[in-house]
Amino acid sequence: MYDLLKEKVLNANLDLPLNNLVKLTWGNVSQVDRALNVFAIKPSGVPYEKLKKEDIVVCDLEGNIVEGNLNPSSDMKTHAYLYRNTEVGAVCHTHSTWATAYAQSGNDVEVYGTTHADSFYGSIPCARYLTAEEVEDDYELNTGKVIVETIKSKSIDYLSMPGILLHGHAPFTWGKDAKEAVTNSLILEEVCKMNILTKIIKTNPEKLPEHISEKHYQRKHGKNAYYGQNKKGEI
Ligand SMILES: [Zn+2]
Repeated sequence: MYDLLKEKVLNANLDLPLNNLVKLTWGNVSQVDRALNVFAIKPSGVPYEKLKKEDIVVCDLEGNIVEGNLNPSSDMKTHAYLYRNTEVGAVCHTHSTWATAYAQSGNDVEVYGTTHADSFYGSIPCARYLTAEEVEDDYELNTGKVIVETIKSKSIDYLSMPGILLHGHAPFTWGKDAKEAVTNSLILEEVCKMNILTKIIKTNPEKLPEHISEKHYQRKHGKNAYYGQNKKGEI
């Protein structure tokens, strides 16, 4: 059962090393099926080169295993919390180098160029450290809570801000499906790399003027989007 969902999640996870977004097993992708109230996720600790469709674990939104013989990713509870508390269709977590460097700095990712503005509407927030109690109590669940708390406290529209950094940890991105969540991780990684290089050239670069960032986001995602060959937002 859940064959198509597991296949999509397998392929999205295999895209992580292909896109140089993970080393070892430092990343995981999941996708939810809202009709069936389940999500499929990478198993814990299985190397990408050995990963097979039957290894993918299916869980309900409370985090109980519905199908699969292996333990789900240790970050499973973070994914489950995001599915219970947002409408996202898929979640991707990596420790990709440049985005993780940003997360370690605790800085938001400011908009310096149109690469950023094309896909992320505004500064990409860096969520706070978890407290000692949150880590001790239920680390992965509370990681999800801190992400949602940051989205809500900053009144962020998570559909136009498909990712976040977690201070001292790494990025989480999302999308309508697993493939899109991985694409957003790749974009976030490139944007963080460009920002860090920009700051080397100029310590305090100016932010991209709003009339340019607005134009770039809206031409791909706005109601009158015209970028690409297909319907809005698609390349
Ligand atoms: Zn992590």
